Amino acid sequence: MKRYLVKPEEKINLDQRNPNDKGYFRGDKEKGRLKLAELNSRLEELQEMLYAQHKHKVLIVLQAMDAGGKDGTIRHVFDGVNPQGVKVASFKVPTPEELDRDYLWRIHKHTPGKGEIVIFNRSHYEDVLVVRVKGFVPGTVWRRRFKHIRDFEKLLADEGTTILKFFLHIDQAEQKERFQARLDTPHKQWKFRHGDLEDRKLWDDYMKAYADALSKTSTESAPWYIIPSNRKWYRNLVISRILVDTLEGLDMCFPEPEEDLENVVIE
Ligand code: AMP
Ligand code: MG
Repeated sequence: MKRYLVKPEEKINLDQRNPNDKGYFRGDKEKGRLKLAELNSRLEELQEMLYAQHKHKVLIVLQAMDAGGKDGTIRHVFDGVNPQGVKVASFKVPTPEELDRDYLWRIHKHTPGKGEIVIFNRSHYEDVLVVRVKGFVPGTVWRRRFKHIRDFEKLLADEGTTILKFFLHIDQAEQKERFQARLDTPHKQWKFRHGDLEDRKLWDDYMKAYADALSKTSTESAPWYIIPSNRKWYRNLVISRILVDTLEGLDMCFPEPEEDLENVVIE
C-alpha cells in the first residue's frame, strides 16, 4: 500500500493522482466485494483483540470534499465490527463555545483511549482547509498550524496512539454525479446543502490546500494516504487493507486468562 502513502514533505499535485486508479487489486467490483467481506471479518477479530487487550489506541482520520465518501467508508469498512470499542467523532462548523478556544480543544477530547478505535469524520484538518480557503483566519495564523498539528499528533503517537489518515480523492466530475444523485433521490436529499456548491466552486483552492496539508503533516507516526475514491468499492478495499495490515502489525494478543480455569466447575 506504499503506493498511496505520502512521504514526509513530499510535493503533492493532486491533478497527477488518478482518482480512478485500481492498480492494487487484480479483480473487478464483484471480486472486490468478496475480498472486502474477508477483510471485514478479519477486522472484526482484530478489533475484538484490541478491545480485550486494552493496550493500543487507534485513530483514523477521514478527510474529503463533500460527497467524497466519508460516511460510506465508515459504513462499509466497519461493516460487522462490534460497535463497542469503535467510536465516530464528526466535526462540523465549530460552535461559539468551540470558537472561543483553540482549534485543538474540541479535537483532543475525542482521541481514542486504550482498546478503542476512533474514526474522525472530518477533523482538526478543517482548520487548515476550509478555514484557509474561506479566509476565516489570516495566513499567518493557519500557516503555523501545520507545526501545531504535527506536534499534537506526535504527542498522541508517543503516548501510544496508532494514527492513520486517509484523504478520499475524487474528481469534480464524480462529485457532480454524486450531488446529482443526492438531488434526485428523495432519501438522500437531506445530505445536500446549497453551501456545498460554494465549496465546489472553490475546488482548485481546496486541492491546493489539501496538497499542502498532506505534504506538511504526513509523518512517520501519523502518515497520510491518498485513496483513489471515484470507485467506492476500491476505496473501501484499500482502506480496509491498510487498516487490517496496520492492526496486524501491532502483534496483539488476548489477555492471559486467570489461573486454574481447567479446575473450574460451574454448579
Ligand atoms: P458535513 O461533514 O458535510 O456534514 O459538513 C460539515 C461542515 O462543517 C463542512 O462544510 C465543513 O467544512 C465544516 N467544518 C468542519 N470543521 C470546521 C471548522 N473548523 N471551521 C469551519 N468549518 C468547519
Ligand atoms: Mg456535506
